[in-house]
Amino acid sequence: MSTVSASFRTHLARTTAASSTPPLPTGTLSKGASGTAVKQLQTALVKLGFMTQAQMNTGPGTFGPQTEASLKKYQAANKLAADGVYGPKTRAAMLKDLTPAAPSTGKPAPSVTAPAAGLERGDSGAAVKQLQTALVKLGFMTQTQMNTGPGVYGPQTEASVKKFQSTWKLGVDGEYGPKTKAALEKALAGQKPPASSPAPSTPAPSTPSTPAPGKVTKPDMKWVPSANYGSRNGADIDSIILHHTASNNVSSDLATLTKKGTDVSAHYLIGKDGTIYHLVDDKMAAWHAGKSSLHGDTSPSVNARSIGIEITNDGSGKTPFTEAQYRALEKLVPYLAKTYNVPMKNILGHKDVAPGRKVDPADNFDWGRVRRATDAVI
Ligand SMILES: [Zn+2]
Repeated sequence: MSTVSASFRTHLARTTAASSTPPLPTGTLSKGASGTAVKQLQTALVKLGFMTQAQMNTGPGTFGPQTEASLKKYQAANKLAADGVYGPKTRAAMLKDLTPAAPSTGKPAPSVTAPAAGLERGDSGAAVKQLQTALVKLGFMTQTQMNTGPGVYGPQTEASVKKFQSTWKLGVDGEYGPKTKAALEKALAGQKPPASSPAPSTPAPSTPSTPAPGKVTKPDMKWVPSANYGSRNGADIDSIILHHTASNNVSSDLATLTKKGTDVSAHYLIGKDGTIYHLVDDKMAAWHAGKSSLHGDTSPSVNARSIGIEITNDGSGKTPFTEAQYRALEKLVPYLAKTYNVPMKNILGHKDVAPGRKVDPADNFDWGRVRRATDAVI
């Protein structure tokens, strides 16, 4: 038997919270309570977006007015009695919300299925909730958005259905009919939407053929050429650098990363719906790393030797990277690592090559998913 120190338990709680489902205390907690159980509850509220990390930091482990207010907000959003007391019903609702959208293998959990067709704005009930759950799982709606009206087909659900329809090349009417249902079933079964045709103006760059013994194939991507790039000056690609854009909006990210004069770019951008935008030919240097070094090495520059991938996310550390983004990265990063022989130690974040200057990708980014997928092929 060994005893586990309090600080180590705290460390464990923190580590768990950062990566997957935080543990939830059993029993009842209300204002005035304190200790590890309260801290677990606060961690869950932070993760669910009902409390900020800063609010939690004012009294971690102490059930004060802030914790009570956050809990009430959560209860109200989940149609529970908003009494600010944490009990079995609140715990059950939180457990459900905190369960990761899908296992890391990328295969959908069998519990999420497509409801019967014939839903539109104004409808409500279990079928709508089922539809929303599927949209959350596929990254077309966030859990927080769903929580604003679970089971109610409002403007948010309509917008998410439209996004889904657009990605799947369906008629974009925001209504859940038979064709949308069929596509939703395919998506939940792990199938990819139909490939987009490249922009007619600029031909897509030639890409290396799939490497010989590789189990990797080039993922579907959209060629949206950027005006911002330069020569690699003879440097070979030996690294992959991940970023968050710090905006939560793929349209503005695309504009920033492609328009002449911004002087920033990346080779790839991953939208919240999992679309991979290819912005700069891999053969050229994109302008994403700035003043950086690879394991202390500044020559050649990180821009000259790396592939840069931007991920649309506000970078707050609270906004989850979407399931669709992880699935895209689980295809793109292994594909690039295999194609260019990039070792695992050179698959890094911007903050790793510019420590002290950069913080991206945010701490809630799950590196495990990217590394496991890459490890399987290199
Ligand atoms: Zn960055």
